[in-house]
Amino acid sequence: MIRIFSSENRLEVQQIKDLLESKQIDCFIKNEFAIGAVGELSPFDAWPEVWILDSEWEPKARAFIDAFLKENEEKRQQGDWVCPHCHEVNDAHFEICWSCGCEMVFQA
Ligand SMILES: [Zn+2]
Repeated sequence: MIRIFSSENRLEVQQIKDLLESKQIDCFIKNEFAIGAVGELSPFDAWPEVWILDSEWEPKARAFIDAFLKENEEKRQQGDWVCPHCHEVNDAHFEICWSCGCEMVFQA
């Protein structure tokens, strides 16, 4: 097992997990519920993490994640947004996903 991704943005962590699962890469989230119950841990330690089960998949998983984050960043700069539910890209002036009808979620 290997940790492939970590972010304080829980939504992004969930998206990465969904992305990897859609690529048939077995993965799971650690620290999913740690935020808000941090205690003596530093905030960084409590960030949710995405782990993949088979470390042989790491290069592939990283490539998918890099592409995903890059695309997300570009969309964000254009004001477009990526649906957290179905990952469809929506124009900035839509507040509801054209594909699945779920509401826009602002991303940090
Ligand atoms: Zn959608």
